[in-house]
Amino acid sequence: MNLKIELSQNRKPKPTDESQLGFGKIFTDHMFMMDYTIEKGWHDARIIPYGLISMDPAATCLHYGQEIFEGLKAYYAEDGSIRLFRPEENFKRLNDSCERICIPKIDEAFALEALIKLIEIDADWVPHQDGTSLYIRPFIIGTETSLGAHSSTRYQFIIILSPSGAYYATGLNPVKIYVETDFVRAVRGGTGAAKTGGNYAASLKAQDMAGEQGYSQVLWLDGVNRRYIEEVGAMNVFFVIGDEIVTPELSGSILPGITRKSAIEILKSWGYQVSERRLDIQELVDAYHAKTLKEAFGTGTAAVISPIGELKYHDLLMNINNNQIGEISQRLYDTLTGIQWGKIPDDFGWSYRVK
Ligand SMILES: *Cc1c(COP(=O)(O)O)cnc(C)c1O
Repeated sequence: MNLKIELSQNRKPKPTDESQLGFGKIFTDHMFMMDYTIEKGWHDARIIPYGLISMDPAATCLHYGQEIFEGLKAYYAEDGSIRLFRPEENFKRLNDSCERICIPKIDEAFALEALIKLIEIDADWVPHQDGTSLYIRPFIIGTETSLGAHSSTRYQFIIILSPSGAYYATGLNPVKIYVETDFVRAVRGGTGAAKTGGNYAASLKAQDMAGEQGYSQVLWLDGVNRRYIEEVGAMNVFFVIGDEIVTPELSGSILPGITRKSAIEILKSWGYQVSERRLDIQELVDAYHAKTLKEAFGTGTAAVISPIGELKYHDLLMNINNNQIGEISQRLYDTLTGIQWGKIPDDFGWSYRVK
């Protein structure tokens, strides 16, 4: 497919203080866009100046949530190159989300090519300071003008870029987590395994309520039995129990994280016993009382590793590893970020050089 490029004649000033970037608030000079109609399929791929998009107020995505997205980062590496981390996995997952939300699939190789071109054009926007990155947000929205509740006949695929600050400005501080026993995020047969906005809308209420009690995220239990652990906030979750490292198996209601997948591969390469299996919250409570619950952490692109220092389940406050980051969590964080920022040898071949 042909990729048209229209460069911005009106470049924005770049942020001068990279310690003040925050997350997802500043955007670069350009964006990628492509349209879909039934007659033409995906067409008119273009890189254009970043700006407002106009759509009919009756566009389907505004009413029935036909929207999917991805999230990945570009890193300014030690050798001056710009790198991505396993980007093919993101476009593969985007197509899996397309399948579930009835959106026509994209050409993964072309999308990656277009992303690379976009990053090359806006390369000066990739921040350099330690821990910073260029956050990449590909997304697809239904844009047919229709209030009929059916799959849209028109779509737009857009990629925007946002220079973002270090997630851990003050080191990896363990977070307090509220085990949610009332609200659920997703159910088997639902859309939990797709990266779609509706899952986030469904999770806000529980997150707000946990926040009011001083907890930074919730631990989600399964929607049928309210027993089996699923995810923590919008991250996958791991527990070190005795000599076993456990993460919930992909049951259909869990988002298959690329950080999760990478963490499993790294831990196995280090010789740990890693189990993807059902994990009952009661098993965790028992392990806590038996003092075999050693570490807990979330995994995701934004934080990479987020150590859990406390879990509140009903009236039980479970303190994990004295509220300190665990040895395995720290080693995993150092290894993943080391590969991402090109600080250590990339034995897995995950680092993807843009330029
Ligand atoms: C994106 C996401 C994750 C993490 O996926 P990564 O590919 O590791 O960033 C986990 N859970 C949910 C609900 C997500 O949306």
